[in-house]
Amino acid sequence: MRAAILEHFGGPDNFIVGEVPRPVPGVDQILVKVAACGVCGHDLLNRAGHFPHSRLPLVPGHEIAGTVVDTGLSVKRFKAGDRVALIQRIPCGLCALCRSGRENICVSGPGFYGEEISGGYGDYVIASERNAVGVPDNIPLKIAAVLSCAIGTGFHALRRAMLGLGDSVLITGASGGVGIHTVKLAKLMGLKTIAVTSAEDKREKLVAAGADEIVISPGYQFHKQIREVTGGDGVDAVIEITGSPTFASSIRSVKAGGRVMLVGNVEPGNVPLNPAMAILKEISLIGSGHATLADLQKVVELVATNQIQPEIAATIPRDKVSDAHRLMEERKTSGRVVLIHEDT
Ligand SMILES: [Zn+2]
Ligand SMILES: [Zn+2]
Repeated sequence: MRAAILEHFGGPDNFIVGEVPRPVPGVDQILVKVAACGVCGHDLLNRAGHFPHSRLPLVPGHEIAGTVVDTGLSVKRFKAGDRVALIQRIPCGLCALCRSGRENICVSGPGFYGEEISGGYGDYVIASERNAVGVPDNIPLKIAAVLSCAIGTGFHALRRAMLGLGDSVLITGASGGVGIHTVKLAKLMGLKTIAVTSAEDKREKLVAAGADEIVISPGYQFHKQIREVTGGDGVDAVIEITGSPTFASSIRSVKAGGRVMLVGNVEPGNVPLNPAMAILKEISLIGSGHATLADLQKVVELVATNQIQPEIAATIPRDKVSDAHRLMEERKTSGRVVLIHEDT
């Protein structure tokens, strides 16, 4: 099959488009012809060589939608021709995490697309009944590609943040692919939604997404403004999507007893934390990874019934993957950049 292949870690021009072996599905797996694959901040870090599980040469891409073309003998829920979206990893289905509905953090299965297993920058991927959800005909596959990561990540974090109707939530990196959809989901949940973004020209999109308050903070120091717009208390929860640059201000933005959900980290590295801040205010720091299969199923329903409108910033042919990575690195986009495979 053809694929955008990374042979050396480095810059956006390191991809070459060429031939690699087509993956062969096991007895409990399906073969999916990829129609579209979202490009994620995670992909940029992977390309630069920040992930220990990635082995070169690799085919990146974990935001995958496509059509089933082959099924293993024991597969019951899918048949050739079915349209599917996938969560970012194939879990084992048997470990304690999988059995408690936390297959998103399973480390016993085949693994994560674009790291342990060949990803959606290739023409085909393997999947299983444990990571695939059927996509109804009213959702185009280029939209379906963004459901699990760009929408599902915020869905998962908001679910884990245990917020109630009328609670307040601060979302950092609010104009990015995950951020803009988290704003929309927060509004759908009836939360007072405060969006932090880096530049004035991103305000309009955040207003359209439904943010109640928009804080423009190019210098990542926003906690005083957050206290002002929350009557001095701070927010019930922060969905921290930017990571190390915004962390210090996020901690100061949350009210006593609140939660900081650690979702993204655009610049790998450590964050400053004075334990007293968390102790005296009993702030919970909660890591939140990617969507579970149940999360993705819900997101498909929300999009199919038009309760959440996905934001696609650009669609780019798969063979022009370097352009897509450059566009992402310039951080001038709102919403998701999606790679489209040739004949879709
Ligand atoms: Zn992603
Ligand atoms: Zn497992």
